[in-house]
This record gives sequence, structure tokens and C-alpha cells, in this order.
Amino acid sequence: MPFGLSVPTSLDRFRQGTTLLLLLSGALCLGAWQIPAAQAQSASPSARSTTLFENVRIFDGKSPTLSATSNVLVRGNVIERISTAPIDVPSRTDAQVINGNGRVLMPGLIDAHWHAMLVRPTPAMLLASDIGYSTLLAGVEATATLMRGFTTVRDMGGPSFSLKRAIDEGLLPGPRIYSSGAIITITSGHGDFRQRSDLPRTIGGMLARVEQLGGSMIADSPDEVRVRAREQLMQGASQIKLTAGGGVASPFSPLDVSTFTEAELRAAVEAAENWGTYVCTHAYTPASIQRSIAAGVKCIEHAHLIDDATARLMAEKGVWLSTQPFLDLSPASGLGPAEQAKLAQVVTGTDRVYALARKYGIKTAFGTDILFSEALAKRQGAMLAALTRWYTPAEALVMATSTNAELLQLSGLRNPYPGKLGIVEERALADLLLVDGNPLEDLDLIADPDRSYLVIMKDGRIHKDTLPR
Ligand SMILES: [Zn+2]
Repeated sequence: MPFGLSVPTSLDRFRQGTTLLLLLSGALCLGAWQIPAAQAQSASPSARSTTLFENVRIFDGKSPTLSATSNVLVRGNVIERISTAPIDVPSRTDAQVINGNGRVLMPGLIDAHWHAMLVRPTPAMLLASDIGYSTLLAGVEATATLMRGFTTVRDMGGPSFSLKRAIDEGLLPGPRIYSSGAIITITSGHGDFRQRSDLPRTIGGMLARVEQLGGSMIADSPDEVRVRAREQLMQGASQIKLTAGGGVASPFSPLDVSTFTEAELRAAVEAAENWGTYVCTHAYTPASIQRSIAAGVKCIEHAHLIDDATARLMAEKGVWLSTQPFLDLSPASGLGPAEQAKLAQVVTGTDRVYALARKYGIKTAFGTDILFSEALAKRQGAMLAALTRWYTPAEALVMATSTNAELLQLSGLRNPYPGKLGIVEERALADLLLVDGNPLEDLDLIADPDRSYLVIMKDGRIHKDTLPR
């Protein structure tokens, strides 16, 4: 890697790289690169400590009941041992011991429909800003996301590759990110944020601003879809996202339209499957869902306008549903009157989509799809808690942990975090929350992360510890 800066495997190599970079860059602010030794160490995988959680009751991500009082040993980034008997560590000074005092230890939450780069800016802000500012803003939000207990997100569109890399390298705290890269859409489709005054487009000409930023790519033939899908895969996409129908936040895409042809969708599916992964589509209506399924799409996003026959088809074909309870018509969502009207239509479909998902036993994932509002992002946990209208707290928590993790496995060979997520068991990755209270009895605890989570661990590293001692 250039200058050895990317993943410092030791402090020495890191300092060596830093010196080289300073020599080359000269005028760079020295302070910015003089990372204190302790901080540099914490960015190194070898610096992960051993942590022993004692006296905890475990929600393991699958069972609807808590375990007996147990002890959980985390070594490196993996859960090494779980036992109701005491676990000895060689020396208590080598291990951080956390006495849970009977509190609940559970897997970190997973948001299966997130837009790491689009949470805080409005669309206008995003288009007017350079990618550097947008990425820094998204970095601040990523840390806030982790502090809400979401240790993994499946990013459903936006230029999140650099943010993901920086988080994975330990440069800043944030969730694991399964990036889709740019949303692929058609002219006028959901994700085409141009104005009518931008038309007609010169064929083979300039990219639209949103394309330059990597937010979405406009493709109007199977060949164009193939190029754009492969570009996302080249950048490290874990899965490919297309918009198969109209959407709420786009200016010129009515909700009822079907956008890509089946041949266009199939071109993306082939490109993704050749790469060992899959395609998901944004689709509200029966027509757009059915066309997606016919083309080989593995996961449908939203589906709030679904009908009975289409729900049955999804269940028969084993196609995933990734959806969310839209809470209300919050004025903070930054949408204009036309978009608010479309949102109202989608909100009214929420009861139907969950009822049909239950009726046919569709594999259902939970994601929030929070966009364009820092205030709404604070309700990420509240959206999960809102599932109690259709599910028990245990069912909702299973969905947001082990079930969502099962969906992530569809990335196959492109899975950036091989290992078990969303579950507390031996050899699983150590993403853990210590909760003050029992979320299986009171899911509203998830809506109040500042108070409820006393410890937040991701990948074996503790990012929050406010346990009273
Ligand atoms: Zn979305």
C-alpha cells in the first residue's frame, strides 16, 4: 500500500510511513500526522485487548429468552468462550473485566437499509458540496450511528467506499459498512436528481453532478447497466442496488412507474452473480417487484405497495424483503409537498407489507432508510422499537441481528467481514452491547441508546463504556 499508511500493522511501520509522507508533502500540518502512540496502537489489530464480560444474561440474537447468568470472553475480535462457569484469564491485568451485574449482553444491531453518505446533508447540500466535505460529515454521522448501537449497516446507495475504508482502518469509529456504491437508476428514475432544465442529455457527454459524486448512476440500456454495475464492484461493492420503480425523494419519478426493463435488470444480476454477489432493487409496486424477481433479484427494498399475489411469489421464490416502518410525516425530513404526498402513500402501505410478510413467512430484514436529516437519524433505534406494532420485542430484535446478518451473507465472496455477525456465540465476531435493562421486555430501551447502552463493542474494541464502577 502506498507509504504503508493504509493499515499500519505496527507502530514502527506506521511511523516509517508517516515520515515518508511528511518528507513528500512538506507543507502538511505536522500536528495532523503526529498521532499519539496510544491512539496509533489502538488502530492496530494487534492492540485489541482481551475482554471478559462477567455476570451477564445473554440475548444471543436468535432465542426469544435470555440465557442463565453467564460469562463471555472476547479475545481479539472474536468471542472465544461463553460459559455459565467462571472463566479464568491468565492474568486479570492482561484482560479488561466488565462485571455486568446481571445486565443483558446482546449482539450489535444491524441496519439493512442505510445511506451512510446521505443521512445528514439535504439533497441540495449534497449536490453543492465537494465529496471531501460530504465524507467528513458522513464520518461524524458514522460515529453517531455506532453510538446508537448499530455496529453494521448495509449501505443502499451513496459514495461510501472511502468512509468504509477509513472506518475499517481504525481512523475513526463507525459501523461495518456493506457498500452498494452508487444507486443505478434510469433517466427520470428514483435517484436521478437532475432538473428538467438539465435535459436533453448529450449522449456520451458530461456526467450529472450526482453521478460525478458517485451518488447514483443513470443507465438506459443493458450495456450501460453492466458498465455501472461493474464500476461499483471494482470499487468494492458488496452488492448492487438498482431502482426498479419510482421513489419518494426524487423529483421526477412517480411512485407507480416501473423503470428498468427486465433485460436491464438481468444485466446487473449477471454482472453481480459473476462477481459472487447479488442485486437488490428499490421497488414499491407489485409490477416492479415481479419484474425484479423475474430478472433474478435476490432482495426487494421497501415493497410498501405490495399485493397478496406478489407477497406469495416472494415467499415461494425465497426472495428477501428488506423494509421499514415509516413513522410519520415528519416535517424534518426535508421533503417538498409533492414528495410528502408520495411519502403518505408509502406510509399507509406499512401495515400491509408487514401483514403480508407475516402471512406468507417472507424472509424479512429490518432497515431504516433514514435520509437527509440528522434529527431523524437520532430515531434510528425508535424505528426498530416501532416494530412492536407487528412483532414481539424478541422477534424485532432477532430480525435486526441474526436475520439481518443472514441477508448480509448473500454477498458471498464479496463479504467484506467474513465471520458470524448478529449473534452471540463462540467464534462469532465480537460486536456486543451491554444494555441497562431487558430489551426483550421493553424494546423502547433501543430508542434511548445514550442511556440504555453502557458498553458498545465493535470488532473486539470498546467504543463506549459508561458502566458505573
Ligand atoms: Zn434507500
